[in-house]
Amino acid sequence: MVITDTHTHLYSESFDEDRHIMIARAKDANIKRFFIPAIDSSYTESMYKLEADFPDEVFLMMGLHPTSVKENYKDELAHVEAQFKKRSFYAVGEIGIDLYWDKSTLPIQIEAFKHQINLAKKYKLPIVIHCREAFDEIFQVLEEEKSDDLFGIFHCFTGTIEQAKQAISYNMKLGIGGVVTFKNGKIDQFINQIDLKHIVLETDSPYLAPKPYRGKRNESSYIIKVVEKLSELYGISEEEIAKITTENSKAIFGI
Ligand SMILES: [Zn+2]
Repeated sequence: MVITDTHTHLYSESFDEDRHIMIARAKDANIKRFFIPAIDSSYTESMYKLEADFPDEVFLMMGLHPTSVKENYKDELAHVEAQFKKRSFYAVGEIGIDLYWDKSTLPIQIEAFKHQINLAKKYKLPIVIHCREAFDEIFQVLEEEKSDDLFGIFHCFTGTIEQAKQAISYNMKLGIGGVVTFKNGKIDQFINQIDLKHIVLETDSPYLAPKPYRGKRNESSYIIKVVEKLSELYGISEEEIAKITTENSKAIFGI
């Protein structure tokens, strides 16, 4: 069985004390593919170091996270573009809109989001979307930018079934993580009405640990709890869940 964690911040300082042990724990639990979203330029070197340490398991994305879209966003976008000129990545991410932390930056968040969508089109890469309290704004951008060559993942999907279908209509897969195990997470109520071909698995570690680790540091090995929950909700084996979602991740990232 091979499980793919499509969204994990393994370079986070939360793992500085035990990164190699934590990744070994995940590999022992069959999590063998890790896709790594970027945040901003302050993490670029640690992402490259992570990739050098785990060249067979770690696959990097590059992008500017919406909560890092601040006064210096043009410099940050130039940094992102410079990395793409230098080398290849598996996705543009994570990008999007976050109105939970700061509403005042909405106009520049939209600008940065669109700019990076166009980078993805240029390099023929998927996008990985971060959406927090911003479904309407994100869908408006996707409506304007949609095209056959725009595709990707709606990371940490937490919306309604209507929003799930709308995201899928824009060629997006749904990234499902710890929230599906939460009592008040809501997506467990309808997710089995969405065909598994639209689903990929993620942890978003160190954030959003699943039950029974909720509130603690999350790590990739905990994705097992998401596999268990989806196996229960879809009524198929954990092996099937792992297989289908790993195939979906290969279709998206091209590896
Ligand atoms: Zn993330």
